[in-house]
Amino acid sequence: MRSRKAWGLAAILGLVSVVVGGVLLTLDRDVVEPSLVQYHAQFIDAGAMLRLTETLSSDALEGRATGSRGNEAARDFIQKRFETLGLRQFGDTYFQSFTAVPEEQGEAPVSGVNVVGWIAGKTPGDGPAIVITAHYDHLGIVDGEIYNGADDNASGVAALIAVAQYFALNAPRHDIIFAVVDAEEIGHLGSRAFVASPPVLLERIALNINYDMVSRSPAGEIYVAGTFHTPELKSLVETVATEAPVRVLMGHDDPALGEVDDWTLLSDHEPFHESGIPFLYFSVEYHPGYHKPSDDYSEITPDFFARAGDTLVIAAMAADDDLEAIEVMRQAD
Ligand SMILES: [Zn+2]
Repeated sequence: MRSRKAWGLAAILGLVSVVVGGVLLTLDRDVVEPSLVQYHAQFIDAGAMLRLTETLSSDALEGRATGSRGNEAARDFIQKRFETLGLRQFGDTYFQSFTAVPEEQGEAPVSGVNVVGWIAGKTPGDGPAIVITAHYDHLGIVDGEIYNGADDNASGVAALIAVAQYFALNAPRHDIIFAVVDAEEIGHLGSRAFVASPPVLLERIALNINYDMVSRSPAGEIYVAGTFHTPELKSLVETVATEAPVRVLMGHDDPALGEVDDWTLLSDHEPFHESGIPFLYFSVEYHPGYHKPSDDYSEITPDFFARAGDTLVIAAMAADDDLEAIEVMRQAD
């Protein structure tokens, strides 16, 4: 983790200042240059994805805890990307505000804000839809240390925006809703609020694809959880795995693995799963930076991340192609 004291040095070396929501943020630019990526991405703008990850996980955003100034600044970055890509709004805003009580009992209610937009398919507003989620909040500052959350989950947000950019330029067959959710770290409150008040009829949501930690894998592997619960999705994932430029592994979704290694209830796909909606959850294996101040941009594996970004587009395209078949996989409640 870079300390705030390093800003003086950054100022001497040259820095980037941006005004977000009326707040001047100073971002020190260093460490991993996108040019270090050897892989030539086919479907995504890897440089833009890396730069957004760096921005969201910079010390200036102070770990993006729900309700904090850094969280608001992150939200503004995301909103501006949605605007630039021309994502549609539900109503007249990308924001879905909510108030909820965190998981730990006795805590006061918190207010959070999801950023939600969509890209129209061939029959806008009609037929099955995909919801792609990624949370933008992280742990904030704890005991004076900034938890930057580069992999968790600046990476997932930047990947979601890279995928949205692909579909903004290459229209999908079905509506795709992009939900960058808040308050994951305190009980998946943003995704719960989304499922509780969905912007489209819940029955239309045929599949949730969730990105949470997709940039840091020295082994070059990404897991897809969800096929234990919806075995019919295995063939889709197997097809994706044959085309993907990373190693795609299924797993981490069997309750027999125990509550640490079964990821079924551990991120924003959980409320969708609880509603009987099939999910595909993309994540790297646990790493030493998980929920540590060392989850920094300098620790991500950029070449893998670029490959993962292409993989996420390949998976979303496959799901879009098969969505009528996926629609019937919903579990009865
Ligand atoms: Zn996370």
